Amino acid sequence: MPQINKKFVAEVVRQALVQCVPEADCQYPPTRSSRRLFESKEAQSIKREIVDVGRKLWAREYVDGNGGNISYRIGCDHVLCTPTMLSKGDLTPEDICLVSLQNEKIIGTRVHTSEILLHLEIYKAVPAARAVIHCHPPHATAYAITGLIPPGEIIPEQEVFIGPVATASYETPGTQSFAETVLPFVRSCNTILLENHGIVSWADTVTHAEWCVEVIDTYCRTLILASHLGKPIRRIPQDKIAALLAIKRRLGLPDARFPEQKQASVPLPRVTTNVPVLAQKRTSRRQRDEDFESLVMNITNQVIRFNSAQKR
Ligand SMILES: [Zn+2]
Repeated sequence: MPQINKKFVAEVVRQALVQCVPEADCQYPPTRSSRRLFESKEAQSIKREIVDVGRKLWAREYVDGNGGNISYRIGCDHVLCTPTMLSKGDLTPEDICLVSLQNEKIIGTRVHTSEILLHLEIYKAVPAARAVIHCHPPHATAYAITGLIPPGEIIPEQEVFIGPVATASYETPGTQSFAETVLPFVRSCNTILLENHGIVSWADTVTHAEWCVEVIDTYCRTLILASHLGKPIRRIPQDKIAALLAIKRRLGLPDARFPEQKQASVPLPRVTTNVPVLAQKRTSRRQRDEDFESLVMNITNQVIRFNSAQKR
């Protein structure tokens, strides 16, 4: 068996720790690993995807002024997000910021969006959520400002990709109270109307979250158009709904009609906290760097020892 290179193993271990699964109970990562993550191939690709999706949202008139925001959870405790005070049609990859799940700005030349609190609450509540988009698409927002719930079981795409629509009650945008309004619904709904405001969608990728935005706004627009035709709207026959739900289940999408998700409409216990960040126990970045490197070397030494034992 060839001699194992300790430096190479350490780098592999370091990358594996930085890219650890979202559910992992890891510490707030240190600066060097955050920088490495922020500049990784995956992050570069996600930044470009966020820019492309920003242009789509702007072109489809789902965002106005500097409104709307896009984020993606990368690594175990990091989120790439758009900055504030910039049109989503004018984004470049260099504008994207990196924050922690505790809303600490880590890297970025711009101030990150204040709406990140809403995104972070969703990431903390739903492990499957990797991307979040908040925006103001006019037809879905028309429902959100009237308090009307779009009726269901009318168009297959809506049933499969979104399903029954929930509306979160109004709170002042950018506040923690606003961020928490979606918690009663977010596990069983990937798209939620925000009263007197807009919508929020989550998915496994930024592109798929944008699809949800397109689906809900097109659905609401179609309903509004149909309401002018002077004929009642027909529903999909009841005996055909199960087939749509089966497709939805295969796609791994959430739905309040799934028996295991019925309880999800009750308020969820807080996962991570209303504890102000300043009140939490904090360690210095230098200490976190040292702890991280110590963990890397510890695992590396174990790999080397295991490799030596195999050779004997
Ligand atoms: Zn907004």
